[in-house]
Amino acid sequence: MKEQLQALEKEALQKVDDATSLKELQDVRVAYLGKKGPITEVLRGMGKLSKEERPVIGELANKVRGNIADAIDSKKASIEAAELEKQLEEETIDVTLPGRPVPTGGPHLLTSIVEEIEDLFIGMGFEVREGPEVETDYYNFEALNLPKGHPARDMQDSFYITEEILMRTHTSPVQARTMNALEDKRPVKMICPGKVYRRDTDDATHSHQFTQIEGLYVDKNVRMSDLKGVLDRFAKQMFGQGREIRLRPSFFPFTEPSVEMDISCKVCNGEGCSVCKQTGWIEILGAGMVHPRVLEMAGYDPKVYSGFAFGMGPERIAMLKYGVDDIRHFYTNDIRFLKQYHQA
Ligand SMILES: [Zn+2]
Repeated sequence: MKEQLQALEKEALQKVDDATSLKELQDVRVAYLGKKGPITEVLRGMGKLSKEERPVIGELANKVRGNIADAIDSKKASIEAAELEKQLEEETIDVTLPGRPVPTGGPHLLTSIVEEIEDLFIGMGFEVREGPEVETDYYNFEALNLPKGHPARDMQDSFYITEEILMRTHTSPVQARTMNALEDKRPVKMICPGKVYRRDTDDATHSHQFTQIEGLYVDKNVRMSDLKGVLDRFAKQMFGQGREIRLRPSFFPFTEPSVEMDISCKVCNGEGCSVCKQTGWIEILGAGMVHPRVLEMAGYDPKVYSGFAFGMGPERIAMLKYGVDDIRHFYTNDIRFLKQYHQA
């Protein structure tokens, strides 16, 4: 019986040693230490033994069980350690690998420019106003001293919804609307950015839809020198402190006198180059003193009030500031173009 137990122990320990997984190990445990295992079987025959032999065999049987159990536990620990090691090795993260960039969006170049211009004028005490893009003939033309049949209407042919309703051709109607709406006829100092529409054929410098920002300042004793001061500050903040401005006589139905504003060319510093067409100057915007008729129609007494107005195209400002050569880039939404200006 003693030899039988020792043989079983040897056999079991060998199997423990051979086991390569927790499953195999569990099978060995059930086979040798379970209630139906060979050791239990051997112990059943103890009844045939003498009184003296029984405790000896009993002790040996317990020792064998203990040895097998210990061997299983220690093998189990080493299999678990090996499996953990393997898992760690397989799931290793190389922290030195560069991360995958997460694409982020950004404001459209036009949005950035409009916001920059807004900030600049807000800093000079202007408020931002908005108005409808579908406008009446009255506000788009008549209230701005462009009665029906006025030849200057030809320059602003638009998309008509009906005879009297059209897509606005400029943001100037917002000026008329704002002045009209003020019951107390108090001073007005505002800019209005927004989309405008013209019946134009799209090319590198024309688009049937574009953006405008108009400004209006109406108060007592507003003079042309005030206009010049505001425009000079705008030009220097937008294009650099070294820029000079120049006002040239021009014509707009809603201002009198009217001017075009140029800034000195940044590329050649006024010497003349291809960017400024050898003139040393670049045209930026139109402006002028508000026509007395426009003030009158909005309910302001032109003998008491005077004002100036100006209008510019953010596309043109952006093209000059960033060297964009085609206005269509702003609307085709090519991500390669747009991405260049996300930090602008
Ligand atoms: Zn130049």
